[in-house]
Amino acid sequence: MPERIYNFSAGPSTLPEEVLAQAAKDIVNFNNKGMGLIEMSHRSKDFIAVADECEANLRELMKIPANYKVLFLQGGASTQFAMIPMNLLGEGKTATYLNTGVWAKKSIKEAKLFGKVQVAYTSEESTFNHVPKDSDYTVDPASEYLYFVTNNTIYGTQFPSMPKSEKMLIADMSSDILSREFDITPFGIVYAGAQKNMGPAGVTVVIIREDLLDRAPENLPTMFKYKTHADNGSMFNTPPCFSIYVVGLVLKWLKKLGGVAAMEKINKEKAALLYNAIDSTDFYRGHAKEGSRSNMNITFNLPTPELEAQFIKEATALGLDGLKGHRSVGGCRASIYNAFPKAGVEALVAFMKEFEKKNS
Ligand SMILES: *Cc1c(COP(=O)(O)O)cnc(C)c1O
Repeated sequence: MPERIYNFSAGPSTLPEEVLAQAAKDIVNFNNKGMGLIEMSHRSKDFIAVADECEANLRELMKIPANYKVLFLQGGASTQFAMIPMNLLGEGKTATYLNTGVWAKKSIKEAKLFGKVQVAYTSEESTFNHVPKDSDYTVDPASEYLYFVTNNTIYGTQFPSMPKSEKMLIADMSSDILSREFDITPFGIVYAGAQKNMGPAGVTVVIIREDLLDRAPENLPTMFKYKTHADNGSMFNTPPCFSIYVVGLVLKWLKKLGGVAAMEKINKEKAALLYNAIDSTDFYRGHAKEGSRSNMNITFNLPTPELEAQFIKEATALGLDGLKGHRSVGGCRASIYNAFPKAGVEALVAFMKEFEKKNS
């Protein structure tokens, strides 16, 4: 096998090597059953144990109280953009959204199909280079919930702490779940597509407060009701078995590493290395404003688009892969999720210094 390179991809993204090695074995023969994990019935004892352990570890790592359900759903984070308002809004109901990027905007579009939407804040005119402070907006008193995206994957911004509100919070945590500690109790729903910080694509984890399960309108199709999945332990239909299994392996890896608090410390160290490199020169310019900087996706520009293209080309040749920024902001983006090794960040910083010396 060739040496693994450093994969800065924004998602799907790098996974711990030991997780990949274990998955490679289990895909052929799981628990010595003479068949692979993805060939097994989702109702088998072996798979039920996998799903149960995955949920238990997630509950432990995120300190999820007993009055929340953990669901493993399909359709990606994007299906949640609609499923949330489908279940919680309706005629005459309002929800408040903070527009901090493409993923928030897409959620707003879906919510408008099912109720009234108050966009309490937008940072669109500054290419989403920051997130608001609590004092920057007011929430409509009639609102059912305050919705926001904790980490804006494309722009490299992140809420430094969770907004405080009288209203129930709902958050898309697709690109920073399990990266830092937070108190889940002000939240009605927290959800994340797995493919950034938790595992492979194919499963979306939805953590929902139990009392919200009964709010869905009667005429909502069965598969779109959270209650359907909650009542059936996410096995109303065939769940994404392989993705759930790999998420389970990643959670075990995270526990071994010391849990979310230990991970948060490492994430801060990794991000600081890159931000220090950016701040120490005028050659690189960070996209996100100070106070809104993400510890997961670090976005930056070079003096010209030509230099950016050359930077990405040379980095790729050195095994620093996936640094091209999203087409809507251009420039470069280094995604350094939980599983991204610190040595890879150090290698990028060394390359940045070298590249600047040759080209400034
Ligand atoms: C990637 C991403 C999504 C979209 O996820 P899908 O699983 O592809 O639907 C949504 N929200 C955020 C914050 C993301 O980073």
